[in-house]
Amino acid sequence: MKDQLIIFDTTLRDGEQSPGASMTREEKLRIARQLERMRVDVIEAGFAAASNGDFESVRAIAEAIKESTVCSLARANEHDIRRAGEAIRPAALGRIHTFIATSPIHMEKKLRMTPDQVVEQAVKAIGWAREYTDDIEFSAEDAGRSELDFLCRIFEAVIKAGATTINVPDTVGYNVPQQFAATLAQLIERVPNSDKVVWSVHCHNDLGLAVANSLAAVMAGARQVECTINGLGERAGNAALEEIVMAVRTRRDIFQCDTRIDTTQIVPASKLVSGVTGFPVQPNKAIVGANAFAHESGSSTARPTRSCAPRTWAGGRTSWCSASTPGATRSAPGCRRSASWSSPRST
Ligand SMILES: [Zn+2]
Repeated sequence: MKDQLIIFDTTLRDGEQSPGASMTREEKLRIARQLERMRVDVIEAGFAAASNGDFESVRAIAEAIKESTVCSLARANEHDIRRAGEAIRPAALGRIHTFIATSPIHMEKKLRMTPDQVVEQAVKAIGWAREYTDDIEFSAEDAGRSELDFLCRIFEAVIKAGATTINVPDTVGYNVPQQFAATLAQLIERVPNSDKVVWSVHCHNDLGLAVANSLAAVMAGARQVECTINGLGERAGNAALEEIVMAVRTRRDIFQCDTRIDTTQIVPASKLVSGVTGFPVQPNKAIVGANAFAHESGSSTARPTRSCAPRTWAGGRTSWCSASTPGATRSAPGCRRSASWSSPRST
């Protein structure tokens, strides 16, 4: 049997942090319900300690959602973790996701803490979180620019303290696929008890590599990917959920895992997020753009519709449809395309 790849959606937390994408509690609830319908494993509902409004949103989602785990982010301090713990208390399945920076520059300039103090604080944070739930995720913020030896040390300590998911974020979108995969592989090999936890990645798209880095990490053993609908997120955004899911589903021959996602719910989720935020999806966006091939709705084959026979062009290039070839004007017979979208605010 193939491993399960856990899909952790952070549209409502990291996605919402992109300027102009803030959402009301009602909008967040609508999106959370769609994520649950899509069978997302973990919904990061917000950052409960950020404000009373954030707390109330996380709590409302924790009350409404039954099938997905509901998670709140929390800095590694007692106040944040207790707010997160209270907010997720009504959840059928609740997770606390705590983080602290581990790169030399962040530890020194942002936290003003020594590496020893950072490890100590992280371990304390896991202890507070355990008062609320056994499902605890720890993130090493800016792991992509952290020293591997230090990452091994802090991960070993938090696993011993009770963390169950270890997240390796490329916070500033600085990594490239081969190197990021090598980092994951080394962490999994070197950290004691690495087989007792789920390894996770969280990639940003500053170099256009968020999905590529995430998938490279999956090949190296990561079994949770943090992502957002339409790649929503600060700056160039986060890894796009729909691209991760469809890559893994379409190329099951390559990836030794699969997701639980109901792919027929991807396009509705994309439209909902675009409509709520007012952020349009570029027409040539992979999987959900208006020009991308449509999904077969209601089908269990869970592939983009490519009903045209594949063609191999001079030079060995293969395409599925004449319409995808530069200069071609007609779709091949039977090629179904997604309907074009009306203005995003109207959906
Ligand atoms: Zn992020």
